[in-house]
Amino acid sequence: MYNISSDSIEKQAGSADVQYPIMEHFYTIQGEGAHTGRAAYFIRTAGCDVNCWWCDVKESWEEEGHPILDVKTLVEQAVKSEAPFVVITGGEPLMHDLLPLTSALKNKGLEVHIETSGSSPLSGRLDWVTLSPKRFKKPLDEVFPYVDELKVVVLTPKDLKWAEENAEKCPEGTKLLLQPEWDTPESIDLIVKYVKENPQWGISLQTHKFLDVP
Ligand code: SF4
Repeated sequence: MYNISSDSIEKQAGSADVQYPIMEHFYTIQGEGAHTGRAAYFIRTAGCDVNCWWCDVKESWEEEGHPILDVKTLVEQAVKSEAPFVVITGGEPLMHDLLPLTSALKNKGLEVHIETSGSSPLSGRLDWVTLSPKRFKKPLDEVFPYVDELKVVVLTPKDLKWAEENAEKCPEGTKLLLQPEWDTPESIDLIVKYVKENPQWGISLQTHKFLDVP
């Protein structure tokens, strides 16, 4: 969970016109992590400077070419969907100041989650922070105290070491999850063995891909 001072929140009054490049926004089922299976409204911002070679949303990397939408429009759609919570993902959502958008969502009573690599400064009012750290652009130290869930994508044994290094920086009680990279099936055996030997970790699966849900 991450929140900013009430002074800063006040300053956001009237920020409904603030705009973001948005790759897509839609009502669906959260397919990964601790909230798997729950209905959620997804807002996928455009723009990412992390450059994971195995990224499955490379079309989100460039901001250009995506619609520019204002806070009012995004909040209206999220509210209309009747989703119980909103997931802001990317791209790398923290490349944008999320305070106007997250404040407006929370003012409508929506829970706000974020999925981030943590490689840009934190912003916004966030009820749940999922950190998915990438070695290509490491998380900032300032992000770790606010992490609720650490979700590490695993391809090789090096990623298990990377997962441990990041877990050491997270608060006690952080949900620790390893997720096989979709196109690297050999990572499954690696993860299963590791979790059996280190039961403080669990497995996250991309269930939306199994179900063919967007
Ligand atoms: S951080 Fe996410 S969106 Fe960015 S390149 Fe890596 S997997 Fe893709």
